[in-house]
Order: sequence, then C-alpha cells, then structure tokens
Amino acid sequence: MLAADFSRLGEEVKRIVTAGADMLHFDVMDGEFVPNFAISPPFIAAVREITDVPFDVHIMVTHPLRYIDALAAAGADLVTFHIESADEPSEVISAIKAHGLKPGLAFCPKTPVSAITPYLSDIDLVLPMSVEPGLGGQPFQRDTLEKIATLHQIIQEMTLLLDISVDGGVTTEIAPLTIRHGATVLVAGTAIFRSQQPETVIQKLRTPASL
Ligand code: ZN
Repeated sequence: MLAADFSRLGEEVKRIVTAGADMLHFDVMDGEFVPNFAISPPFIAAVREITDVPFDVHIMVTHPLRYIDALAAAGADLVTFHIESADEPSEVISAIKAHGLKPGLAFCPKTPVSAITPYLSDIDLVLPMSVEPGLGGQPFQRDTLEKIATLHQIIQEMTLLLDISVDGGVTTEIAPLTIRHGATVLVAGTAIFRSQQPETVIQKLRTPASL
C-alpha cells in the first residue's frame, strides 16, 4: 500500500483488488526501528472500510507489543514483526494470537536464517527481507533466494504449514525465481501500483519459472 497514490486511496484499493490482489500489504514504520515514518493504524482502519480482502500488516517498529491492540482494532488479519525488534518474540507471537490474528516473523538481510528457526512452528508466515527495511526503491538482494530455499527445506523437513513471503524489489523478472525457490506470498508495490495494467502484472507475478 505504500506505493499507492494516497490522494486517491479508495480508487487505488478498488483498482488493485479488481486486478486480482489476494491481500493488501501495509508497511508500518515507527521512525526508530527504521529512519522513516509510514502507515499507522488509522490509515489501515480507513482502508478496512473499503474492502474485505485480508490485510497483511508488516510492522517495522522497535516495540511491536505496543501495536497489536491497535492493529487488531484496525482490521489486520496477519501481523508480521521483526526478530530484530526489542520485544521478546514469543511474547509478541502470543499477543497476536490472543487477538485471533496470524503472526508472521520478518528478518533483515544481515540476520541469519538460524535466528528465526526456533519460532517457525509458532507462526503462519516467515519473511526474509530482500532489501534493508524502511527505504523504497532498492533492488532485490540475490542472496535472499538461498534463504528462501533454506527456509523451504526446513519447513518441509519439519512438516510445517507456513508461508514464505518476499518483500522488497519484487518485479515480474524476480518473482518467478522466488517462487521456484519456495516463496508462496509475493509483496509488490511499485510494480503493481505504477502499472497501467495491474492485472497483467499480478498474473505475471504469479507465474513460476520453467525448470
Ligand atoms: Zn513490507
């Protein structure tokens, strides 16, 4: 949603939901965990008035526990927080579940996959960030593909059911590679919102690479 034209928010939401978006992804930033401020719970609540599609809320904040009540009230379905945040991950996961929401866990490019593995059985989505969080327009970091493959393998071995999401620099060229490595949820902003044919872009993003 960060790539939407906020001056035409209602039209933008209708345009991409009609084009086939399965979920809306919101980036919440606190100006501390990341240098920028972005999307707050009232904005999410306003979009909830317009559509029923699931909301995937990615919180890039130092204190995720402070946000859970407000996000639940705003209409979030899934809340993805960062392992690098200050709060104890298992407490944040419990707080999210207490509201009947699905927990997701994100980690920055410099954080190893091993930091996240103890929590995989307690979450619904894992997000290996393919760019540094907080700044738009960065290219996809290629070593993310190995992390996706590693996570996919661990999830298979542990017979878990959770999504692997990709967020940051996802284009129609990169998307098939991520799917081939095991990604199941693709987040795209500018690629969809800046297109005159968002349905074509969404279709291409869904298409796995030929092996
Ligand atoms: Zn995000």
